[in-house]
Amino acid sequence: MNPTPAHAGACVPPRFAASCALPYASVSIARMTSTTIESPPYPHLFAPLDLGFTTIRNRVLMGSMHTGLEDRAKDFPRLAAYFAERAAGGVGLIVTGGFSPNLVGWLKPFGGKLSWPWEARPHKFVTKAVHEHGAKICAQLLHAGRYGYHPLTVAPSKLKAPINPFTPRALSVRGIERQISAYANAATLARDAGYDGVEIMGSEGYFINEFTAPRTNKRVDAWGGTPEKRMRFAVEIVRRVREAVGPDFIIIYRLSLLDLVDDGNQWDEIVQQAKAVEAAGATIINSGIGWHEARVPTIVTSVPRAAFVDVTAKLKPHVRVPLVATNRINMPEVAEGILAAGKADMVSLARPLLADPQWAAKARVGTPQAINTCIACNQACLDHVFENKLASCLVNPRACHETDLTYRKTFAPKTVAVVGAGPAGLACATVAAERGHRVTLFDAADEIGGQFNYAKRIPGKEEFHETLRYFRHRLEETRVDMKLSTPATAADLTGFDEVVLATGITPRRVAFPGADHAKVVSYVDVLSGRVKVGARAALIGAGGIGFDVAEYLTHEGRSSSLDPARWMAEWGVDPTFEARGSLVKPQPEPPAREVWLLQRSPGKPGARLGKTSGWVHRATLKAKQVKMLGGVEYLGVDDTGLRIKVDGAEHLLPVDHVVVCAGQEPRRELQADLMAAGKTPHLIGGADVAAELDAKRAIDQGSR
Ligand code: FAD
Ligand code: NAP
Ligand code: SF4
Repeated sequence: MNPTPAHAGACVPPRFAASCALPYASVSIARMTSTTIESPPYPHLFAPLDLGFTTIRNRVLMGSMHTGLEDRAKDFPRLAAYFAERAAGGVGLIVTGGFSPNLVGWLKPFGGKLSWPWEARPHKFVTKAVHEHGAKICAQLLHAGRYGYHPLTVAPSKLKAPINPFTPRALSVRGIERQISAYANAATLARDAGYDGVEIMGSEGYFINEFTAPRTNKRVDAWGGTPEKRMRFAVEIVRRVREAVGPDFIIIYRLSLLDLVDDGNQWDEIVQQAKAVEAAGATIINSGIGWHEARVPTIVTSVPRAAFVDVTAKLKPHVRVPLVATNRINMPEVAEGILAAGKADMVSLARPLLADPQWAAKARVGTPQAINTCIACNQACLDHVFENKLASCLVNPRACHETDLTYRKTFAPKTVAVVGAGPAGLACATVAAERGHRVTLFDAADEIGGQFNYAKRIPGKEEFHETLRYFRHRLEETRVDMKLSTPATAADLTGFDEVVLATGITPRRVAFPGADHAKVVSYVDVLSGRVKVGARAALIGAGGIGFDVAEYLTHEGRSSSLDPARWMAEWGVDPTFEARGSLVKPQPEPPAREVWLLQRSPGKPGARLGKTSGWVHRATLKAKQVKMLGGVEYLGVDDTGLRIKVDGAEHLLPVDHVVVCAGQEPRRELQADLMAAGKTPHLIGGADVAAELDAKRAIDQGSR
């Protein structure tokens, strides 16, 4: 076994000029300008990993993600195409979404399961497709335990999870034995289906983790009580799986290094567990970060890049098997830095490979500026899964649509004018140009990006810079003719074969007494820096933009998303990782302003934000003492402030500014002029429908 880089891999062309986006650019620019053929980019990332009985071609592990294609045999050809693109894109080792080893371990009714030979058979499509491209693949065995969304769930103790309505049944000793056998059986089936190994999911608060933690294991028999008895179930599973599959099969054990819940494991118990699963036959240990019920965010965009990598590094001296670092590793310089510093032996990227299947190939040839970076928004991946929809990706609508959304070359090239270089126009222009059309892209502004130029200024949304950097590169690569600082008129457009209006939106104005008072400004005035907001502000409208503007106004200085130590202090993560569950008292930084966030509809503001990120936005604003009110009637604005009525009582909010974040209206005045000139334009993004517009729809529509 050789977990350290052995050699640097093949020669690669020199890197192109640096164009990585702010504010992460410093490391990459230094690297990119200094790279030559003699010093290949990212030598640690592309060093093979020798496991003794097999070798993985590089250190890029595609982490497990449920996509929705795992649950029905008829979707396996699509699942195979999805994985094949990532294998062809150069990933070393792929881990599938979770398959339960038996029925009680289901994540949801009729979810993917691996307990009978006929359930294993369709997996051969997947393993064959991946092997054809030189990558290795492991099936994840995921028993949901008390997180299963069905009435058959089992757990070490009868304790309901705070995020699930179903109460599990506590297992008998015979029941425990049946679960262990189910794992061994599933691993044997995975081997028969052509997998190179399995990943045993022992973290994130699922079944095995429920045995290891005192929080959920209240047993007083041989499977609970002391740390040794709590970890016995995990160790026994690894031992029995190894016995069943033989020595030449990868067993990854996903170990919860940070539970981030009260009564979770303590550091010495985690080390003990790691040593025990290694001795029982694990080949690789993957890092698990945070239970699903944890109140500390672990993957959303405001989590700093590689925030938790030091906990993997802390385990390194204690084990000999290769260790995998995870969470918010989305660019090659971050991955290389972790490996070069000896903090881990592999890096796990999950969502970044939804965003760009060619991630590894682009890193290997030294073109990180060509990577379509995952911005950790969760909007099209995790949020979809939680809504029982097929996963995809906001920045790459082809993810999980590899067989039905293909950008084929056209046999009839046309001249195409795209008006508006926001997300919709950028996607449309680059896809049309890639297909062979001659595209001209107009924008009235002097830079591309549309509203993303406001989004990127929100503390915690720094990743949005990367999408703009990617599109700048794509525009160049696809040779789109750019016309910036050019407000297009109908006369400019009539000569084109096709005209696409991606002109976006205009912010909605509000109508109440004093709406034209000097205190009343739009979110655009604030985020563009045209208005300097006073010490007290009220925000009208509590949608995604209202929440973002509240974060902008309550934060000051460098965003803690760029500073892991401050971020950990804010969220109460023990920087030494020694405390039980790794939790300490949160220390939020004081708000920069006093802010009220208001909406007319009754109920909790933010209820309609993303399923997996909304709670983080609400918690952040609560920590910043933002007063969030629903059921508000706006009575008027004058020199004294904003008068409102809530629950029949009138209040005066003595604010310096009232910032309107009340939604948007489509901007498409060009449509009428074009129609009058005999030209029917195509409408996309906000110009088409402004209601419930987001970048996911804009990019998807632009691409299609
Ligand atoms: P726009 O982005 O509005 O782009 C339209 C472009 O057209 C502009 O650049 C404009 O200059 C140009 N234009 C207009 N008329 C003309 C003309 N006549 N000639 C030339 N150019 C013209 N969405 C998400 O999905 N997730 C988020 O986290 C998120 N956060 C956000 C945070 C903030 C603060 C804001 C403001 C928005 C956020 N959004 C988010 C929304 C997202 O940015 C929009 O949904 C998306 O930008 C809409 O894309 P679009 O291309 O339709 O329009
Ligand atoms: P939005 O989500 O539709 O919210 C608009 C808000 O304004 C609501 O709170 C609405 O609630 C209020 N409002 C609407 N008309 C009003 C009126 N006439 N007077 C007073 N209040 C009014 O829109 P948005 O916040 O502008 O966001 C635009 C889009 O960007 C959203 O669809 C969102 O998906 C996307 N976005 C997403 C994120 C993200 O993190 N995912 C972040 C930012 C933006 P009441 O009517 O109850 O007051
Ligand atoms: Fe990343 Fe957002 Fe795409 Fe999910 S939807 S993979 S979080 S960019």
